[in-house]
Amino acid sequence: GDITLEQVREYVWEIPQEGDMGTPARVFASEELLEQIADDKTLEQLKNTTHLPGVQKYALCMPDGHQGYGFPVGGVAGIDAENGCISPGAVGYDINCGVRMMRTNLTYDDLRGNEEELVDALFANIPSGLGGGGVVEGDIDAVNDVLDRGMAWALDEGYATEADLAHCEDEGVRQESDPSAVSQKAKDRGKNQLGSLGSGNHFLEVQRVTDVFREDVAEAYGLSEDQIVVLIHCGSRGLGHQVCNDYLRKIEKTHSGLLSKLPDKELAAAPAGSQLAEEYYQAMGAAINFAWVNRQLIMHRTRQVFERVFGQSWEAMEMELLYDVAHNIAKKETHDVNGEEKELFVHRKGATRAFPAGHPEVPGAYLDVGQPIIIPGSMGAGSYVLCGGEESMNLSFGSTAHGAGRVMSRTQAKKDYWGGDVQDELEQEQIYVKAQSGATVAEEAPGVYKDVDEVVKVSDALGIGDKVVRTYPVCNIKG
Ligand code: 5GP
Ligand code: MN
Ligand code: MN
Repeated sequence: GDITLEQVREYVWEIPQEGDMGTPARVFASEELLEQIADDKTLEQLKNTTHLPGVQKYALCMPDGHQGYGFPVGGVAGIDAENGCISPGAVGYDINCGVRMMRTNLTYDDLRGNEEELVDALFANIPSGLGGGGVVEGDIDAVNDVLDRGMAWALDEGYATEADLAHCEDEGVRQESDPSAVSQKAKDRGKNQLGSLGSGNHFLEVQRVTDVFREDVAEAYGLSEDQIVVLIHCGSRGLGHQVCNDYLRKIEKTHSGLLSKLPDKELAAAPAGSQLAEEYYQAMGAAINFAWVNRQLIMHRTRQVFERVFGQSWEAMEMELLYDVAHNIAKKETHDVNGEEKELFVHRKGATRAFPAGHPEVPGAYLDVGQPIIIPGSMGAGSYVLCGGEESMNLSFGSTAHGAGRVMSRTQAKKDYWGGDVQDELEQEQIYVKAQSGATVAEEAPGVYKDVDEVVKVSDALGIGDKVVRTYPVCNIKG
């Protein structure tokens, strides 16, 4: 593209402020990663983001960034919550898409020989794909309760333990949520999807820990080499999508004046303090609660599947939640902006919170080492657990990457890969994949993603999220 970047220092690049830009923008990337976003709209979108009223310091792009709807995936913007705005496109359609990791006390040896049985049992018991049906058959009252209370609902219904709640961002409950701000249409879409993976990029992966980089932090996280862990990636399904859609349309109409000043219609935003800003924030909060319950129900069912396959109780296998992190979210947080404490709507779209040791929002068990950050790579490559880095509050509003990041479109992927071949190649590497369709496997082939090692290297070098362990896939199910 025609956007000039100035290098600030190693891995830090800046789009200097000019014209109507409210602030400069910064990209955290190696030259190799920068190369991969040279020809798409990532940088243009990042630059556009600085036009949102109230953006503080810099609009940011994490090392896994790529183009998205209006706002890059991998984008972070801290926007003044009093005089700025909130933008649904800067949160994303899949509100509270996120990942959680569950530990076990099984080792890779305990699992060898059972991979196919396990992957089949997971696939048969965990609802996935576009079809209806979830772990729980919900009615509208249940949906309202979930939207209001998040994981507190799951606890009362016997699908979660106190410890599960303690190991989620926000303890699994976004208090500022209002089910009445969510449309009937959205609730109807969510009703049959409580406890379902969805399709495409969402997955459940059984992994083994292959590398430990930080012994002390790994110990605090209860992770060690050869250990089996489970990664769950999904979001708020049709409900969250509908919330995003509903509010985009309302905001475009009601705040057309603001919209006309923005370089891209997809950045539609509601001014802070307006009724729609308030309503969107509460509807988003409700969808956030839905997504936490969704991941919890899938984890609950996963525990049951392991019980059946391994003939032990989940408690005996110590299947405890390490942490659950959101990566499509906006949240009111207080940050230091040039020496002043300010309340911001921190928008993280395809970006993960990365609070360091000592931050009051880090759960007690991890307070001395920083919050866990979970970064999936691909079904054929490593994934990582990082810990919140010392520099994250300074550099990135307490955020880092959320994955490897896509380099190839789904359309191109289906031309380049054949699902069956991808599956066979993975099986040669002892990775057992089961999906609703071959097309999904092709669209998610390891080659469509960037090099996660490179992404994590940049995060670690900048000190925004530090390497703790690396994992490798064993079994994977996809929608
Ligand atoms: P997103 O939330 O943007 O769809 O994707 C999150 C990240 O998950 C992607 O950037 C990619 O690196 C990673 N990913 C996608 N599919 C898989 C998978 O099957 N296994 C693992 N471990 N990671 C995946
Ligand atoms: Mn998602
Ligand atoms: Mn996601």
